[in-house]
Amino acid sequence: MKPIEEYVRSIPDFPEQGIIFRDVTSVLQDADGLHLAVDLMQGKLDGVEFDVIVGPESRGFIFGVPIAYNLHKPFIPIRKKGKLPCETVSIRYDLEYGTAELEVHRDAIKEGQKVVIIDDLIATGGTNEAMIKLVEGLGGEVVKTVFLMELSGLEGRKRLKGYDVESVIAYP
Ligand code: IMP
Repeated sequence: MKPIEEYVRSIPDFPEQGIIFRDVTSVLQDADGLHLAVDLMQGKLDGVEFDVIVGPESRGFIFGVPIAYNLHKPFIPIRKKGKLPCETVSIRYDLEYGTAELEVHRDAIKEGQKVVIIDDLIATGGTNEAMIKLVEGLGGEVVKTVFLMELSGLEGRKRLKGYDVESVIAYP
C-alpha cells in the first residue's frame, strides 16, 4: 500500500487562481486509499474516551460513520440549514466569501457527553469552531477533533486554541 499522501490528488488553481485544492475523492475511489484513510484517522482515537462522534455534511459523514461503526459509537450528523426534521439548534458563521449555517438536532447530544469531531479537512478552522459552539451549546464536551488533511498555512489551529486537534496529513 502506498503512503496516504499519494492517494490525494492536488489540483492547482481550483476553485480559484493560486489555490491548490486537495481532492479527497481520489482517496475514496481507491479501496486501499479509503481503508488507509479511515484506519489512520481512527488510530488518532486510540486511548481516547468518548461517547459520540459528530461530523458535518457532507465529507464529515464519509469518515465519521465508518469510524463510529468500527468503534461502536453513535454518529451525530451536523447538517446544512433546513435538512433536519426535528427541533434543532443552529449557528451561522463566516466563510471566506459570505456565510453558512449549520444545524444539529437539539436532542442529539446530551449534557456532559464527550464528543469527537471528524472532518475531511481543516482550512481556516471556521467550520470546526462553529461545530464546537454547537456541541458546547448543548452541554457536550469536545475532547478531540480529527481531520484527514490540514492546510497549515491557513492557521486554523489558532482558532481552535485549547482544543485537541490532530490531522493525518499536514500541507504547508
Ligand atoms: P474551514 O472552515 O475554512 O476550515 O474549511 C473547511 C472546509 O473547506 C472543509 O470541510 C472543506 O470542505 C473545504 N475546503 C477548503 N479547502 C479545501 C481543499 O483544498 N480541499 C477540499 N476541501 C477544502
